[in-house]
Amino acid sequence: MRCLRAVLAACPLLLTISPLFAPVHGDDVADRARKLHFSSIVLDTHDDTTQRFFSKSYDLAKRNPDGHIDIPRMKEGGMNAIFFSIWIDGRIMGPPAIEKALDQIDAVHENVLRNSKDMLFCRTAEEVRRAHKEGKIAALMGVEGGHMIGNDIRIVRIFGDLGVRYMTLSHFYNDEWADSSTDKPAHNGLTDYGKEIVREMNRQGIMVDISHVSDKTFYDALEVSKAPLIASHSSCRAICNHPRDMSDDMIKALAAKGGVIQINYEKSFIDQAYKDASDKLFGGVVAQFDQLKKACGDDEECLGKKMLEMEKQATREGKLPHVTWERIIEHIDHVVKLVGADHVGLGSDFDGATMPEGMDDCTQLPKITEALMRKGYSDDDIRKILGGNLLRVMEQNEKVARELHSQP
Ligand SMILES: [Zn+2]
Repeated sequence: MRCLRAVLAACPLLLTISPLFAPVHGDDVADRARKLHFSSIVLDTHDDTTQRFFSKSYDLAKRNPDGHIDIPRMKEGGMNAIFFSIWIDGRIMGPPAIEKALDQIDAVHENVLRNSKDMLFCRTAEEVRRAHKEGKIAALMGVEGGHMIGNDIRIVRIFGDLGVRYMTLSHFYNDEWADSSTDKPAHNGLTDYGKEIVREMNRQGIMVDISHVSDKTFYDALEVSKAPLIASHSSCRAICNHPRDMSDDMIKALAAKGGVIQINYEKSFIDQAYKDASDKLFGGVVAQFDQLKKACGDDEECLGKKMLEMEKQATREGKLPHVTWERIIEHIDHVVKLVGADHVGLGSDFDGATMPEGMDDCTQLPKITEALMRKGYSDDDIRKILGGNLLRVMEQNEKVARELHSQP
């Protein structure tokens, strides 16, 4: 049934010449959802595709047989705004961390430039809207982990100048000034220097990203920041009790200050049974990562492939339960019921996480729009979730930066 519908959608001529097909195709919601999806700004705040730019076998411009993101598949899935993640292992600190971050920032700029027919590098919400009007994919950057500033606040300004529009305050491990959700607390949240860094991010219009940080770091950042925060790729603890996810109280506090949680699709963050089985099998997300690191060293591509292999094998052997893409919808719906439709969006973790079944790559994104429509969400609310909310937060961050700059 699904296949027939897909064929008909691809070939509308069949509908006009054969009334026989009309009743089968007569799914009004599916049609309306497609139209809404493909006319909206569909923005994803977290994609680990940047690491693939360093692989000889990967080409952003071509359809790749593996991974989740490339231009042809983004077009097919209607994903037209992407935050490329700048990420290195959180245990690399100091000047080497800065150098590696700059390598990746340069790689994003070069890849966008090489594909300027299809992509536009964007620094503001307005530029994202302009890219959409021109039919181009908006490319943005987020730094995933405060360790990459090498404990030097001046680097925040340099990252800002280079177009970085959010920074996650920590990754899996504590950095010099912020505690992580997956490490033992060392700073009781944000240190005084960490608070200064948050203020500097406000001045630069770099959104403060609280994915990965400890609960205390989140509350500290929320108190210090003059602009709304984002969780670039986190899900809901009420559904899956993972430290990487947000509790209802945190989501309420984030929303009360105008922020947005961008739902992560990683199986162990969205499904409790999977998380429990995965913890039992691998000893938690950080232990699993360490295990992979031993096998792959700094080879990011190897890390991704090995993670997928491990996960696939364990699922085949029945050691991990199946998780389907509809769980993503449950998380979105949970946030909407808790704080309304203005505070949730999409932060897939494509190319950096294991995807639930049915969300194999970015070509599957129209399903999210259709599922929300079937739940009775209004077109306006769906557009906000697909990208509008994040653009609103980005604009508020831009406004705060302008105000701070105009102060003596
Ligand atoms: Zn992450």
